[in-house]
Amino acid sequence: MELYSTKKISPNVSIGEAVLKGLPDDNGLYMPVQIPELPKSFFDGIEKMTFQDIGFTVSQALLGKSVDDQSLRKILAEAFDFETPLVKIKEGFSVLELFHGPTAAFKDFGARFMSRLMRYFLQQTNQEINILVATSGDTGSAVGHGFLGVEGIRVTILYPKGKVSDIQEKQLTTIGGNVSALEIDGTFDDCQRLVKSAFLDEELSSKLNLTSANSINIARLIPQSFYYFHAYAQLKSDGKPVVFSVPSGNFGNLCGGLIAKKMGLPIAHFIASTNVNDIVPEYLRSGVFHARPSIETISNAMDVGNPSNFPRMLALHDWEYDKIKNEISAFSFDDNETKQAMREVFNECDYTLCPHTAVAYLGLKNWLQEQHEAFNGVLLSTAHPAKFIDVVEETLKAKILIPERLQEALSKEKVAQPMSGKFDDFKSWLLG
Ligand SMILES: *Cc1c(COP(=O)(O)O)cnc(C)c1O
Repeated sequence: MELYSTKKISPNVSIGEAVLKGLPDDNGLYMPVQIPELPKSFFDGIEKMTFQDIGFTVSQALLGKSVDDQSLRKILAEAFDFETPLVKIKEGFSVLELFHGPTAAFKDFGARFMSRLMRYFLQQTNQEINILVATSGDTGSAVGHGFLGVEGIRVTILYPKGKVSDIQEKQLTTIGGNVSALEIDGTFDDCQRLVKSAFLDEELSSKLNLTSANSINIARLIPQSFYYFHAYAQLKSDGKPVVFSVPSGNFGNLCGGLIAKKMGLPIAHFIASTNVNDIVPEYLRSGVFHARPSIETISNAMDVGNPSNFPRMLALHDWEYDKIKNEISAFSFDDNETKQAMREVFNECDYTLCPHTAVAYLGLKNWLQEQHEAFNGVLLSTAHPAKFIDVVEETLKAKILIPERLQEALSKEKVAQPMSGKFDDFKSWLLG
C-alpha cells in the first residue's frame, strides 16, 4: 500500500511509515494512492461472512503485502473481540451499535486496530515513539486503552477542561501505566492546535519521536470501513438500497464509509449529520469551507470547528464539489432538536440514543421524509448513552443502566496534569 500526502509536497510513503509517522511533513493527510475494488464474489457471499472475515478481506486488499496474513488475522482477532449488532428500531431505521468495545464508543474500532498495527511495524524497526492525541471526549480513552502496556510507546492525551462528560473524564484519566492525561485550559480546537504545533516544532521532532493517533492517522480509517460492509451484509437480503447517516465531527467515521463505497460497497447515499458546528453542511450548501471556533453542545464529541478529515473527503471525490454534493447530504441540528429526537425514539421505539446518535437519527429522518419504506436507513450509533448519563437521564426523565466497563473507570481516582493552552508550557512538559 502506497500513500500520498493530500498537500502533494511530501513524498509518497509505505503504510508502515504512514502509520508510525501519522502526518506528512507538509501538514497534509496520508491517503492511499489506489483504493482497490473488491471482486463481485466477495459481495455475493458477504451475508455469510463474520465481521472478522470481512475485516480481513477489506484490510488485506488495502494493505497488500505490508502485513503478513497470519499477523493480520491476529491483529483483527485481538482488536475486534466484541459484537457490532444492527438493531431495527422501526421501518426504515436500523441502529448500528458501535459502542460495545471497552470504552463504549466507536473510537475503539480505529484505536484498537491502529495500536496493534503500530506495534507490528514498530517491532520491525526497534524505535520508541511518543503518541500525542487530542480528544474531544472519546478518542483519548480508546487510544490510551489500545496502547496500555505496549513497550516502547508513551501516550499523552490532551483534553479540554470541563468540556467532556464525567464518565469520559474518568475514562481518560484513570488508564495509568505508559498513558498520561493533560487537562488543557481551552477547547478541543486548542488541544488539536497544540498537537499540530508539536509536530511542526523542530526541537521536539529532533528530540522525541512524535506521532499522532488522531483520526488523521490512516490506520484508524481502515477499520472504520469494516462495519459499513458488515451492516450491508445483514440488510442485503431485503434488496432495498442502503443509506447511512453518520454523526460527524472530524469526519473520520464518514471517510471510512466513503472508502467502503470506493471498494465497491453499494451504498446508495451518505447523510452527514452534525450539531450546530455545521462547517461541512455549510460547505455542501455554499461550496465554501469556512472553519470557525467550535461551539459547545450536548453532543460534545462532535464539537469541531475545523474538521480534520475534510481534505480526505475532497480527495475521495477528486477535489470536485459536484461529486461530493451528489454523494453526501448534510444536515445540522441544535441541542433542543437533539433532545426532542431522544425523547421521540425513547417513547416511540423504546430505545435509548446517546446525543450523537440522536443527531444521526434526525439526519436520516430529514433525508428519508416519506420514503422510509423505499430505503434501509442505518444510523451509526457512536456511543453508549451511559457515557452521557446526565443529559440522557435529564432528557428522558428515566434511569439508564451503566455497563460494567464504565462502572469500573468511575470507581478509580482521576490523575491529570492541569495545563494552559500555551504551546511553550506544553513543549516544556514534553521535554521535561
Ligand atoms: C468521535 C465521535 C464522533 C465523531 O466522529 P468523527 O469521526 O470525528 O466524525 C461522533 N460521536 C461520538 C460519540 C464520537 O466519539
